[in-house]
Amino acid sequence: MQRLYSAFALSIDLTGRKKYMVERPSSELSQEAAVEVMSRLKQLYPGAKSALHYTTPFELLVATILSAQCTDARVNKVTARLFAKANTPQGILALGREELESIIQECGLFRSKAGYILGACQILVDEYEGKVPADLENLMRLPGVGRKTASVILANAFGKPAMPVDTHVFRVSNRLGLARGKTPKEVEEGLKRLLPEQEWNQAHHLLIRHGRAVCKARNPQCQICPLKDLCISFQIPGDGDTGTRKAGGDRPPASTA
Ligand code: SF4
Repeated sequence: MQRLYSAFALSIDLTGRKKYMVERPSSELSQEAAVEVMSRLKQLYPGAKSALHYTTPFELLVATILSAQCTDARVNKVTARLFAKANTPQGILALGREELESIIQECGLFRSKAGYILGACQILVDEYEGKVPADLENLMRLPGVGRKTASVILANAFGKPAMPVDTHVFRVSNRLGLARGKTPKEVEEGLKRLLPEQEWNQAHHLLIRHGRAVCKARNPQCQICPLKDLCISFQIPGDGDTGTRKAGGDRPPASTA
């Protein structure tokens, strides 16, 4: 769908350097500015990919369930121990709840996570011959698997076009003006409209890296951000928080302009 409004227009200054001029507040980046954002992010974070360790779709499913409110490094430590004992739905069901909980307790929320994993394993065994389904609808039938987790599995384990929107992608997309939305689904749809399908998965990883390294939730490092000349939040303080206030009040400070 063609955008009606463009927040930035491309111009060339006397030195030949491209400049993106603010035309209109309360909007999203133009297609051209979005291409420039993606190009810079690729240079900043070459080879960005999932930090979770996995060798099969099932391992990624378990690791992603464990990653809720837990660092990837901790999940990798836990899954190294878990997968050495069991890395199939049948194997994890055979471990039983007590042993599973004791292995994953470092990840936090371990009782609910154990319940989700065991529930998902049972469904996989009963209905999918022990295999992880490769479509959004069936993935979202599994306990502990929402739209984001299902999209992560589709994109990373099956190489299918998907645009997972986690807290970092949601925040950075809103702040930059890449895609504005009050819900992850709205941001997902905006990013899918804006970016070519083959870039979705990479865009997800790039936005996560930028969200963790620079555009942090509580203290975005706007002054050193290589995207600040493009970023609507930086260019128009107070305009980049569409949707993010509801998500936790994490907007960049107006004083950084
Ligand atoms: S300029 Fe600030 S708000 Fe914009 S992307 Fe960079 S860190 Fe985030």
